[in-house]
Amino acid sequence: MKIMFLGAPGAGKGTQAENAAKKYNIPAISTGAIIREAIKNGTEMGLAAKSYIEAGALVPDDVVIGIIKERLSESDCAQGFILDGFPRTVAQAEALDAMGIEMDVVVSIEVADETIVERMSGRRVCDKCGASYHTKYKPSADGKTCDNCKTELTLRKDDSPEVVINRLKTYHELTEPLKDYYAGKGKLKIVIGQEEVSDTTKLTLAAIDSVK
Ligand code: AMP
Repeated sequence: MKIMFLGAPGAGKGTQAENAAKKYNIPAISTGAIIREAIKNGTEMGLAAKSYIEAGALVPDDVVIGIIKERLSESDCAQGFILDGFPRTVAQAEALDAMGIEMDVVVSIEVADETIVERMSGRRVCDKCGASYHTKYKPSADGKTCDNCKTELTLRKDDSPEVVINRLKTYHELTEPLKDYYAGKGKLKIVIGQEEVSDTTKLTLAAIDSVK
């Protein structure tokens, strides 16, 4: 099964990708997480990507296409995978086509911009294992440290309100056209993001199951 999640930053793609990964037993691949790891490790790619991420801009297409090609060639992707945050431009979607990859379903999670800004300011992440929480909607057990590895949770630099506004603008200009792109291929399912994460999860899994 090959599943793609579209949606604005903070719409809940990452959470839904994790849920679907567990249910279908396939890896969830987040280009954002791969890039953040590269920044943390100070690799050449990480250094090149840092200024884009921190400004809320997209990392250049050739860089992310290279990342995804490498990741999808790994053996754990043989039975399928979930894309979370890739593609984000039509050029990236075309690169996926050129790699001969056809998605089974593309789920777009829709959330209003105002809700996103409110949500992002409450998002907390674990810099060590990459787990994501929310102070209101998905708190960790003690509200301060990661449930998996007990590392102190932090607010991502690019989740600050000014950067979020920039990320939303980028989403509407460059990523939202992908909805038409995949609707044209008959792959698009729209899921309206709900107040309760578990309700969004039910709708998301039902959308995926409807194409199986
Ligand atoms: P995310 O964790 O998916 O919200 O991604 C965080 C940031 O990583 C984005 O704001 C971009 O700067 C960068 N990024 C992640 N995926 C892509 C992509 N497919 N194309 C370009 N930039 C990306």
